[in-house]
Amino acid sequence: MWNTAQLALANLEAAGLREVVYLPGQESYTARNASYWSLTTQLHPWAIIQPRNPEEVSRAVKAVVATPGCNFAVRSGGNMCVPGSNNISDGITIDLDLLSDITYNPESQIASFGPGAKWGDVYTQMTKYGRMLAGGRDGGVSAGGVMAGGGIAFHTCRYGFGCDQVLNFEVVLADGRIVNANKTTNPALFQALKGGGNNFGIITRFDTVTFPVGDIWDCTLVYTQDRVAEVADALVDFVENLANQPNDHMFAMWAYRTGQKEEPIILNFANLDGEENPKTLKRFLNIPSRKKAMFTTIPAKTRYQLVASGNHDAWYTVTFRADPDLILKASTVFATLKTSLQLRLYPLQDHFQITMFLQPLPTSFASHSQARGGNMLGLEHIKYNSILLLCSTKVESAEVNAKIASPALRSAMKEFESYAEAAGGLAKFQYANYAHHAQDPLGSVGTENIRFMKGVARQFDPQGVFQRRVPGGFKLDNAQAANELRLKL
Ligand SMILES: Cc1cc2nc3c(=O)[nH]c(=O)nc-3n(C[C@H](O)[C@H](O)[C@H](O)COP(=O)(O)OP(=O)(O)OC[C@H]3O[C@@H](n4cnc5c(N)ncnc54)[C@H](O)[C@@H]3O)c2cc1C
Repeated sequence: MWNTAQLALANLEAAGLREVVYLPGQESYTARNASYWSLTTQLHPWAIIQPRNPEEVSRAVKAVVATPGCNFAVRSGGNMCVPGSNNISDGITIDLDLLSDITYNPESQIASFGPGAKWGDVYTQMTKYGRMLAGGRDGGVSAGGVMAGGGIAFHTCRYGFGCDQVLNFEVVLADGRIVNANKTTNPALFQALKGGGNNFGIITRFDTVTFPVGDIWDCTLVYTQDRVAEVADALVDFVENLANQPNDHMFAMWAYRTGQKEEPIILNFANLDGEENPKTLKRFLNIPSRKKAMFTTIPAKTRYQLVASGNHDAWYTVTFRADPDLILKASTVFATLKTSLQLRLYPLQDHFQITMFLQPLPTSFASHSQARGGNMLGLEHIKYNSILLLCSTKVESAEVNAKIASPALRSAMKEFESYAEAAGGLAKFQYANYAHHAQDPLGSVGTENIRFMKGVARQFDPQGVFQRRVPGGFKLDNAQAANELRLKL
């Protein structure tokens, strides 16, 4: 008797997909599995299927769904480090890397690109036409997951999130139909896809608006820890004023790796109009620092800012009111986490890195989204200017990650959340693209958005394929459970 894996492979072969199905032991399978950004997500599916066009995605979905009991995962770049989000152990992985065409229509000024397109390539193509779009900020990361989860861009301060720029999604639904979703065709699906993740279908193309672009002025300032209070004040000031002067992209980063004597605070700043030392940077420049600055382009910046891969990773995100006291608390929690990991990992000889990014999330970001039709992130409910925190750990071994680093990260961040909540500064929003597997980002976007997305999922996927047969990623079904739990409490 055939087992599920054999039946799935037979169905994929009958669908004419043999050429693009890779099996364990084959070179292509090994290479595709090794291409995940984090070792944490390098699982061992029964097969990896790498469709070359939306029709092949459709055939793959039909073949897998027709195989009783066969689950599957969807991946574009494979950059998310949540275990099982973009890969699967007992099932089939649909790998969209080959859907990477990038085109630009000079007449309509619309860019079109596949989910496998890397941001570095998208931006290089766009600059050939003097145009740009708002997508991810790391040249090696792909479009699919970033846009499905929201997409924080260099230009979010002006135009909102990556998903807000989309005019049309091409999507393969659970029954294999290839449909478009835009303002007039399938408008509810269009809306739900703007931040709703992998709950509705597989996005096979994005059509987005573009805008003119020139050189930017890029600046890095490195501070010592004793400057943290001044940096916190300057950061809050910057966030408070970003709506009035939306010319700058910025994040602050606390970073430590084994062997380092101290953890510097690194401010990464870019003036999007190419203005050198703009007045928005004045407060930061007044604090003694090491400075490196240059004129550059967006594609160049995305290429030299690649974040190292090849470790076991855990991420956790918190959104909190822009308040110097909360930044100082986050800094203290970061230092305590560092010391605790030093003590626990030293005897195991496991090298580690921890990083904490603080990025502006003022209310103006939600206004930009709403001006473009709105999305599913629910940020309009946050009434104060906020900061989006991402804290991450990198270790060498799977066991150390699962048993020590990831739980330690979570508990440190929970301590910070409790502190922020007590101070009245915890915004409940959790950004799905930065979330820990134990977080509930979809549960954080507001009851109305959850209800709306559930209705859309029922309409376009009545069998619940993307809830149950695609178990990875943040699921609407689980968001409901978390939400009800919160209501009961
Ligand atoms: C180095 C680095 C830099 C980053 N920089 C940014 C940044 O600047 N801005 C930002 O917002 N985020 C950033 N992120 C986070 C990033 O948005 C997420 O990791 C995102 O999921 C990566 O996209 P991906 O295509 O690699 O997704 P994958 O890891 O392939 O997939 C992630 C999730 O999205 C789903 N998914 C992927 N493609 C599709 C599709 N076509 N249709 C439906 N569902 C799909 C998957 O099923 C999975 O659940 C960064 C991450 C890394 C590792």
